[in-house]
Amino acid sequence: MNAVGVDIGGTKIAAGVVSPEGELLNEVRRPTADTREQLLSGIAGTIMEVKEGYEVGGVCLAVPGYILARENKVLRAANLEAIEGIPLKEELGARTGLPVSVENDANAAAWGEFRFGAGRDVEHLILITLGTGVGGGVISHGVLLRGARGTGGELGHITVQAAGPRCGCGNRGCLEALASGSAIGRRAREVAEGSPDSALGRLAAERTLAGEDVLDLARKRDEAALEVLREAGTWLGIGFAAFVNVFDPEVIAIGGGVSEAGDLLLEPARKELRLRSSSPSRELVEIRGATLGARSGILGAAALARGESGEYVLEVQVP
Ligand SMILES: [Zn+2]
Repeated sequence: MNAVGVDIGGTKIAAGVVSPEGELLNEVRRPTADTREQLLSGIAGTIMEVKEGYEVGGVCLAVPGYILARENKVLRAANLEAIEGIPLKEELGARTGLPVSVENDANAAAWGEFRFGAGRDVEHLILITLGTGVGGGVISHGVLLRGARGTGGELGHITVQAAGPRCGCGNRGCLEALASGSAIGRRAREVAEGSPDSALGRLAAERTLAGEDVLDLARKRDEAALEVLREAGTWLGIGFAAFVNVFDPEVIAIGGGVSEAGDLLLEPARKELRLRSSSPSRELVEIRGATLGARSGILGAAALARGESGEYVLEVQVP
């Protein structure tokens, strides 16, 4: 049986019908509404439209925020406040006639990579998505780590620098505050002030620097831009070392726009990982690029959809 995965973002809803083999059979996109009722009818409408003509056993929504997985509710979603507190299983179940569950978007993406992407050949996977923020998901022994309330796996919010920059979560020095696209942009603005003659400094005199500018200029070998990426990579490696020591993963998969920096970011990260993590995990762990791109949320959510009796609709194929 197929399942529907719905990736709900601050600006758009993307829904897809996914086969048990992980094939995306149909996809529909709509803008996200910002009032409760319009949001609910928008999500329900997207599900009904995408599943038209397909046999579907269940739906899972991937939402950016703190999810109470057992209650199928979103506790807090910074860019999507209208969805907070809605009993989504009941509200959307009644409108679509399908079993509905909810998952954090990064957890869903990690599950997508585990089932169909960079981690399909392993049982112990960590996914880190480096975008505007830093998302994370942990799969251990083939099980998605959620914790007691469903809010676990927030790898972007481990502290890596005690008195570091303020993070969106309210804490200081989170991995997200030091290695995300926005953190790289912020650090680039500071470095540019101290090196006005660098390409980074000259661009900063014209306009506000963003994370992408650093990637561009680093590829052109501007030393100031390279230094900003080396710093971010070092923070990332400190995070990786903690993940390796705690979870002993076979693979750390890296996704998101910032991951396009490749070795400019990952070389310092690998170095830091080697220095700070324990043997033999540090020799065995493999850092790979995520392979599903922007569709990891839809694919992972579909693979987390549950049927009437609570079983995964897209069952794990035992070889
Ligand atoms: Zn944080």
